[in-house]
Amino acid sequence: THTRRDNLLSFDKSAELIERNAQWMAGGVNSNFRLNISPTPLVFERGEGPWLYDADGNRLIDYYLGMGPMILGHKPQALVDAVKQEIEKGFLFAGQTAVEAEAARLVCELVPSAERMRFGCSGSEVDQAAIRLARAATGRKKIIKFEGHYHGWFDNVLWSTAPALNAAGPEDAPVPVAGSKGQLEETAETLVVLPWNNLELLTTRLAQGDIAGVIMEAAMCNAGAVHPAPGYLEGVRKACTQYGSILIFDEVITGFRLAAGGAQERFGVTPDLSTFGKAIANGFPVAAIAGRADLMDMFATGGVVHGGTYNAQPIAMAATAATLKSLKPSLYATLEERGGRLMAGFREIFAHAGVTAQVAGFPQIFHVAFGLENPARDYRDLARMDRAAYIAFTTALLRRGVRALERGAWFLSIDHTDSVIDETLLAVEDAVRELT
Ligand code: PLP
Repeated sequence: THTRRDNLLSFDKSAELIERNAQWMAGGVNSNFRLNISPTPLVFERGEGPWLYDADGNRLIDYYLGMGPMILGHKPQALVDAVKQEIEKGFLFAGQTAVEAEAARLVCELVPSAERMRFGCSGSEVDQAAIRLARAATGRKKIIKFEGHYHGWFDNVLWSTAPALNAAGPEDAPVPVAGSKGQLEETAETLVVLPWNNLELLTTRLAQGDIAGVIMEAAMCNAGAVHPAPGYLEGVRKACTQYGSILIFDEVITGFRLAAGGAQERFGVTPDLSTFGKAIANGFPVAAIAGRADLMDMFATGGVVHGGTYNAQPIAMAATAATLKSLKPSLYATLEERGGRLMAGFREIFAHAGVTAQVAGFPQIFHVAFGLENPARDYRDLARMDRAAYIAFTTALLRRGVRALERGAWFLSIDHTDSVIDETLLAVEDAVRELT
């Protein structure tokens, strides 16, 4: 057997531009999560459908999808049309518009728990709004978050998102591990970090009666893919109600992706509050917090502040409404079918080549973890994956025209057709051949 080593893509121009741009932008990028990419962070010229076109003239099949948002693919015509129409009216009014009301109505119609909602601009921000509401509603301080769950980059939540196991303490009583230098250490005292998918530990802690809220990804999708154990979400719901704590689902990844109504629709469990971002606007900077009317109305009449100059920016709202109107049941059926084929293709290739790997999650957002013999049940399992080998794999894939996240996630769009998936699987097969 031989691989297609002769016509591998190169990324020299991107590397050169990143180095040049680093004189103006720290690291040549505008988010730490775009740094340290092998062989280089990339510079793009445009995106269309499932493809990105980079500065070296390469056409790449894109499974980053902007780190999740582009469920309709790059530059869908419905959004281009909606945005063009809206942009003619002006950019920002610091007042209300018809298009934001339409987008808000659509969120409330699609999301089962959304009696009321507010827009923001990033997932990090709306997670803060949810935490503030939980504290205001309960008069309590502490928030429970889970190891390996990411809720944005701010001081009070950037704890134990991807801790090294030798620093993380006992499995049943994790020690909060800071994600960044410069983070206010005292914020750890406002948190209780627990292992996810363990109902007994959570219930015991909630029973102390001092927890304002519990925030979680209802299915782990960021650090790796883990489904909630049977009965876990239902148990969490019940315990939060029993002990007077607010249940917050962070649906920034799962929202509008696992189903039109997110993880809460898919699993049939209703949080008090939930947060959205990413797929809500297919690439525009939009996020939302939604939930119980009595809680959300505290923003209006309960003395709880939520602000933002750019909240509900009309052009972004046009993109939001156009995205939400496109989220038909048939779209999810298609994503499930094609993503299922891709996952099955991976498993077959890995089994054939003797690569130990877990392909887990959902067809529209799944993870590949190298080196795991069994499906992960929580972060501690995920942390044992072979990251170096996986980065070698994504680097080999990139040279074959497929761009996937180094942390293992694969996002699918409706533009990833069967032929795109076939092309991807050929590249995967070839990359595996190079590495084994
Ligand atoms: N919550 C989850 C589950 C996420 O995956 C992310 C981003 O990846 C965030 C919150 C933060 O969203 P943003 O990057 O828009 O601030």
